[in-house]
Amino acid sequence: MLTNKPLNVAQARQMLLDALSPVSGWETLPIRGALSRMLYRDIVAPFDVPAHTNSAMDGYAFRIADLAADGDTRLAVVGTALAGNAFSGIVGARQAVRIMTGAVLPQGADSVVAQEHVRIDGDALLVPPGQQAGQHVRQAGEDLARGKPALAAGQRLGPAELGLLASLGIGEVTVHRRLRVAFFSTGDEIASLNRPLAPGEVYDSNRYTLFGVLTQLGVDLIDLGVVRDHPAALEEALRQAAGQADVILTSGGVSVGDADYVRELTSRLGDVMFWKLNIKPGRPMAFGRIGDAWLFGLPGNPVAVMVTFHQLVVDALLKLMGCSPLPERPSFKVPCVSAIEKSPGRREFPRGVLFADGDQWKVRLAGNQGSGVLSSMSSANCFIVLPETGKDIAVGDLVDVQPFNGLI
Ligand code: AMP
Ligand code: MG
Repeated sequence: MLTNKPLNVAQARQMLLDALSPVSGWETLPIRGALSRMLYRDIVAPFDVPAHTNSAMDGYAFRIADLAADGDTRLAVVGTALAGNAFSGIVGARQAVRIMTGAVLPQGADSVVAQEHVRIDGDALLVPPGQQAGQHVRQAGEDLARGKPALAAGQRLGPAELGLLASLGIGEVTVHRRLRVAFFSTGDEIASLNRPLAPGEVYDSNRYTLFGVLTQLGVDLIDLGVVRDHPAALEEALRQAAGQADVILTSGGVSVGDADYVRELTSRLGDVMFWKLNIKPGRPMAFGRIGDAWLFGLPGNPVAVMVTFHQLVVDALLKLMGCSPLPERPSFKVPCVSAIEKSPGRREFPRGVLFADGDQWKVRLAGNQGSGVLSSMSSANCFIVLPETGKDIAVGDLVDVQPFNGLI
């Protein structure tokens, strides 16, 4: 169903996410090769982590019941427990064992006192009062309990998850297969990098920013180059892309200019669900389907490409890749030190620089805000979000910011 009304970001996002479901298919990989991929099934802990109750400190293991409430308690040191080399005896009444971080807590002991809090008197240990039962002890299974889900299907595997899998002794995981994304730039004025510019031409930057964000997301790339503003050439490129990819990403040619054919061709070859967003920059952006492939027709302006990609396409691709739940996108209010003009109607995403002013975070505009000006995108570290109904921003007003999160 096509809607001709410009959609708000939230509406467009909902429409996209409702339409998309994860691609089918999976593969089993060694965990290092699974970085950034989405788990296909739950991972159940095969044993407790930690496997044994152990010490969180270098110090002495003892029985809390032995301690006097009102003064130092003398305990006899009867042995040593090292990480990987346990004390084999039992800690009896009024006894203690020297213990190192990570060593198994000896039988009989229930608490650990840090070595800097005790005094040694010959063979004896003097422990001051005020120690807590169970202190400095890591209980078996307190990190991950045997038989319980340690990671859920849909979890994206980042550095912490690789470590967690390794802590369970798991060396291979089953993950969703990689998403195949075909992308190309459109425009008669767009030149590839391997030749000098003719008058009126610009180098193709969009294919490089898209290469960057797609590579960071961890998808398979099918780079189809630059396509002329010619219906037959575009149709050929769209058909070729739809034949090999799960997703087609185009830039340019999606507006209402004389040479803008992407939307028209998509509705002829498949379906267009929306093509206009109530945002700035990035008003023209098409979403549709050709055959089995989803199409995101991004605007041509380089900044608009990055704004629409960040606001809508990232989460759409993550959902197709099997990611669930989708990551939270933190956004928070900070004072803005730049005045910003805002006309009512569209949600605007000026580029900003978040900076610390003493202990207060603030934001300023990042340079020239033209939708073709990539240098402002490069110097920025966040979007400033000005809502549809919002008015001009005066110096000192609070504004919402969305940090780039490393994706841009
Ligand atoms: P369009 O949406 O095709 O009208 O393009 C809007 C603006 O973005 C025009 O100024 C284009 O020259 C520019 N543009 C389109 N595609 C690219 C690209 N791949 N690299 C750099 N600029 C582009
Ligand atoms: Mg164009």
